[in-house]
Amino acid sequence: MTRVAPTRQVATFCPLCVSRCGATATLRDGAFVALGPDPAHPTGRALCVKGKAAPELVNHPERLLHPLARTNPKGAADPGWRRIGWDEALDTVATRLRALARDHGPESVVFGSASPSTSAMSDAVDWVMRLKRAFGSPNLCVSMELCGWGRYLASIYTYGDSVPGVYMPDLDRAGAILFWGYNPSIARLVHATSTVAALERGARLVVVDPRRAGLASKAHHWLRVRPGTDAALALALTHVMIERGWYDEHFVRRWTNAPLLVREDTGRFLRGSETASEIGSQIGSEVGEDPDHLVAWDEADGAPVGYDPTRGRYAADEDRLALFGARRVRTTDGPVICRPAFDLVAEQCRAMEPSVAEAITTVPAADIEATARTLWEARPLAFYTWSGLEQQSGTTQIIRAVNQLYALSGCLDAPGGNVAFPAVPTNPIGGAALLSRAQRAKALGVEHRPLGPARFEFVTGEDFFTAAIEGRPYRARGFVNFGSNLVMAHGDSARGRDALRALDFVVHADMFMSPTAEQADIVLPVTSAFEATALRVGFEVSEDAQSLVQLREPLAPARGEARSDLQIIFDLAVRLGLGEHFFDGDVEAAFRHQLEPSGVSLEQLRAEPAGVRVPLVTRHRKYAEPVDGIPRGFATPTRKVELYSEVLLEHGYPPLAEFSEPGVSPRSRPDLADRFPLILSCAKSLWFCESQNRNMASLRKGAPDPQVELNPRTAAARGIATGDWVRIATPHGDVRARAKLRSTLDPQVVFGQHGWWQACDELGLPGYPPFGPGSANLNLVLRQEPSDPVSGSSPLRASVCEVSRL
Ligand code: SF4
Repeated sequence: MTRVAPTRQVATFCPLCVSRCGATATLRDGAFVALGPDPAHPTGRALCVKGKAAPELVNHPERLLHPLARTNPKGAADPGWRRIGWDEALDTVATRLRALARDHGPESVVFGSASPSTSAMSDAVDWVMRLKRAFGSPNLCVSMELCGWGRYLASIYTYGDSVPGVYMPDLDRAGAILFWGYNPSIARLVHATSTVAALERGARLVVVDPRRAGLASKAHHWLRVRPGTDAALALALTHVMIERGWYDEHFVRRWTNAPLLVREDTGRFLRGSETASEIGSQIGSEVGEDPDHLVAWDEADGAPVGYDPTRGRYAADEDRLALFGARRVRTTDGPVICRPAFDLVAEQCRAMEPSVAEAITTVPAADIEATARTLWEARPLAFYTWSGLEQQSGTTQIIRAVNQLYALSGCLDAPGGNVAFPAVPTNPIGGAALLSRAQRAKALGVEHRPLGPARFEFVTGEDFFTAAIEGRPYRARGFVNFGSNLVMAHGDSARGRDALRALDFVVHADMFMSPTAEQADIVLPVTSAFEATALRVGFEVSEDAQSLVQLREPLAPARGEARSDLQIIFDLAVRLGLGEHFFDGDVEAAFRHQLEPSGVSLEQLRAEPAGVRVPLVTRHRKYAEPVDGIPRGFATPTRKVELYSEVLLEHGYPPLAEFSEPGVSPRSRPDLADRFPLILSCAKSLWFCESQNRNMASLRKGAPDPQVELNPRTAAARGIATGDWVRIATPHGDVRARAKLRSTLDPQVVFGQHGWWQACDELGLPGYPPFGPGSANLNLVLRQEPSDPVSGSSPLRASVCEVSRL
């Protein structure tokens, strides 16, 4: 009689990307054999192909199973890997890192992590930050400038917080949904399933994307923007909304800095202390001589009125504040023309009428008008952005322009808008107090981009590579890397390789060998997420999701000698003498500490693999709540949403959102246009997380070859048919890919893919050299410059190329 293997279903979640989909694992005879969706979980309506392939990932024959030490010099064709034990590996790492800190300062060691949005590093990235800080280094390289600056940091200069990011789109209540440079079907599946549900109940969807991908085919408005010109489109939409009166005037007056007067002569806000004394007395006793008090214009009185940013109060009713018009104000410097910030916004946008924007963006003016109407009439409006806006030479201005557009809707933190959902209380674990201010000030890149990622302890790939190769501003000498495939992720891959080779010491923790791991001195084997324990407090996308605390327990025993990233961090901390900050290496004790304020115990979580809910109540429009009698406002210098940013102005950047042509385009570089007439962008594949997974047969079957998408007319003009191998040539070299024809693409635009290097032996499909002839590594022929002046974001999504048959 055939024995039926006993099966067991275990509630869990997939952490392979930011969606963190709720899932049910099937264990047969104790072996992890399948992962499926768990519709009862707030993120579990569906799983993607990568999540479903989890057992294949766990059992893959190419997994790294033992610590390895290099025996041949860097640059040798064969690194001469020697198997070593964990004690030798950790002792070597700790000894080398301590020596670097002693001889060159802890800042000479850069820490790295794969993106927590496209890998399982969300399990451990906060602990990497803590380790870095406890070690004394201000430098963490998580490629923030490629995928997270816009969502998490750039909007701080508008809202004082991450919008979107901390403020998530309330898709369950939204009337209009705006996805800009964001394809949730690939990037965050839970947003895709929620959007489909929203469409079924009648929500309107606007997608801005050069490709008609994912939900763009279901959108009421799909705006096919020319890559990199998104700011022009946002300004044009804003212009239409201002012209038609389609903006929330109440919100704009009270909660943005739109009414504040800007001096025409300096571009700065007019201060109360700058007004002539008789005027100063008119603008309210609260204003007086305080140099921080600002000034608006009271239309009813025809006079200036003071604004105290520390109290968030005007000395007159906000309804009386002028939003438009120039005023001649008597100041201590004589008469000065001043205008409300909103008047300057309107003027800036007026220069980008839809017909002008059409010539720049290729989006028809009529579509811009119609979209603006939808955004207004179907509100509440919720929005999200992603990598399409990140890898641009003008990322910060693009984000500012989209932020400004969104602010006018008045939907921030309103039901159906972008809402800061509450969080289950926990003890913070990032260790912010462990790094001194003096060390923080040494972050690489802070001297030439003081408002950029370095301000928040994130080093860009380019600044890291410069410090490693050129020793500017000081030499980076060590790298502690948790899974980041930097060489493949960043433009100019050969420079990335050379930078890693120039370092004194590199330790790399990963599941598989990679072009980045190959540059290491020590390689540490990491478990897959499904062999590791991880604690997840909140799933971000809604109040319901935020209320869930879940402990993901191993579904399979660790293979070989692999350890989880988390355990490696804790073990390394102990060897470095930092055990006091890492619970003496006890990960479980760390979880208990983290959970303490939540009232949830590890025992409860173990008993409830599907997670424990902590009731939360969402409060809306928190900016209006009084705190000690003063409205909370926003965490900006003016305590308002900053349509006009004096912070940016003071650092030499435009204070108003503006458009500039992408740094490398047929228009900005006419000298290249003859040889490279096409606009080259790139997009992620559904089948792979960035540069991972191409060695997995079930995934590679779906996308066997590197691909470049062209309009059929573009292809025909070059004698290219679908499936042909082609050469993608840029000013920096060429790589290969197979042509795929896509009639919805602009004929001038082509889309490649990054991340191709791995072979898939099971299918007999080849790998491609990351460098040199025969490469399919798109980033090999792209560059990190010209980058965004604020953030250092690289222009990987808007460049130039020519495509020809091989
Ligand atoms: S979208 Fe796919 S890879 Fe990402 S968490 Fe969900 S199942 Fe995992």
